[in-house]
Amino acid sequence: MEIRSEKIGLDPEKLRQFLEQQMKNQPPPQQAGAADGNASTTPSEGPPIEFDLIPEELEAYLDQFVIRQSEAKAVLSTKICTHFNRLKLEANEDEEAIGNIKNNVLLIGPTGVGKTYLIKLIARKIGVPFVKGDATKFSETGYVGGDVEDLVRELVREADGDIARAEHGIIYIDEIDKIASTRGLNGPDVSRSGVQRNLLKLMEETEVDLKSPQDIASQMEAVMQMQQSGKMERKKVNTRDILFIVSGAFAGLDEIIARRLNKGAIGFQLGEERAPSDIEPQQLYRNVRTEDLLEYGFESEFIGRLPVIAILHELAKEDLLSILRSPKSSVILSKKRDFRAYGIDIDFSDRALEILAARANEEKTGARSLVGAVERALLPFEKKLPSSAVRRFTVNEGVITDPQTELLKLLSTSSLGNFCQEFSQKNGIILHIAPDAEALILQTAAAQKSEPSQLCETLFADYGHGLKLAELAEYTITVEAVRDPQEVLNQLIRAFYNRAKE
Ligand code: ADP
Repeated sequence: MEIRSEKIGLDPEKLRQFLEQQMKNQPPPQQAGAADGNASTTPSEGPPIEFDLIPEELEAYLDQFVIRQSEAKAVLSTKICTHFNRLKLEANEDEEAIGNIKNNVLLIGPTGVGKTYLIKLIARKIGVPFVKGDATKFSETGYVGGDVEDLVRELVREADGDIARAEHGIIYIDEIDKIASTRGLNGPDVSRSGVQRNLLKLMEETEVDLKSPQDIASQMEAVMQMQQSGKMERKKVNTRDILFIVSGAFAGLDEIIARRLNKGAIGFQLGEERAPSDIEPQQLYRNVRTEDLLEYGFESEFIGRLPVIAILHELAKEDLLSILRSPKSSVILSKKRDFRAYGIDIDFSDRALEILAARANEEKTGARSLVGAVERALLPFEKKLPSSAVRRFTVNEGVITDPQTELLKLLSTSSLGNFCQEFSQKNGIILHIAPDAEALILQTAAAQKSEPSQLCETLFADYGHGLKLAELAEYTITVEAVRDPQEVLNQLIRAFYNRAKE
């Protein structure tokens, strides 16, 4: 519930001051020192950390799902395993870890190449809560947009309110490059540096109040609770063991790296095989150093808290195809599930996957465009087929390149299938239609703008009775029968009686 201050006729600033005063008047529970962000308390006592994974196991798990990105997979699986194994060690040995640097990770890579996917897979495998935030949503004060601490509160929600679990969670922040403090005409962008400093506090160690100071409703609730019980309940989350992974595309960083490498090549004649200006941007990112990130607009303390960097690469058309072909491809599996929800089974031909990968590649948003390409291609089928008798179909080249014709064909064939089935049920005679006869029926039905099954009802109205007279248990409709159904049926009956006479 959101309480708007206008509605209750209060000045929000005064209300906040009042609430803060109320809180200050209360003695903090057991320990103090967290209010200024330099918390000295330890994380909540929780259940022992159950973690047995080793880097190569986690890497092998990621290999099942994620195409390419071997460097990022290696770095993430190693550092994340080390992070959780170290927490386990510290918990078991009761060792006071002072001055430990956390294995927070910076991922650099364009959109749609698997950054979020990797972290989600890891969080699922490890079984820790995970939240994703977007650095562009935060403002320095938290009054406009969001507050970086909201991420920690969200982590607690993800952990179903279990603070100890949240304290071992993973926070992933995308678009981190957007809080680089670029130098404009008026000097560096101060508010972006402010957001960096707020994040830095979280990444180091601080205690976050579960009730946001911006959330007037929950603050009032806290005051009311305090007045009733005489106690101020202050639930806090310690961020010491929370792992932070931040990422961004870092456009323009390649130029900074190239400039530095060029300076080196000219100034010191390093004898590079190729001039840095000839190096592909993707290769340049591999050479990133702290000084480049500082020049890009990050505070040194902030970069200092991100000791691990991994580069993710753009995905080529072949990679997009491999993603679609992968039996664990979430794009294909999720589309199959959409159809299965209507009782329809679909599969994809390899040629269809090739065309989808090529279409997605044109959009240049990595694997993200795969979802769009598949959606666009199959939407007319998803709309029409649930109200037809079609219960299975193959997404082939025609479905992608000429959906209208293919859909019509599918619906017509299913209409013929219906006719045969009903005929068999009604007359006890199994009925088939030869492929060339089927083509002729579909063509005639289309020309007459009628349903193929209705056309068959008219053409073969006498066949139930006639085939019984000829004592047939199974019959296949031929092209001749479509052209002249009466004559073909007469011949059948005559032939039967001639045989009977002999
Ligand atoms: P981003 O790099 O922008 O975070 P995502 O990880 O969200 O991109 O990718 C979007 C979707 O594309 C994922 O959910 C996944 O289905 C697919 N995908 C992206 N990269 C890969 C990859 N390397 N291997 C397999 N699937 C991928």
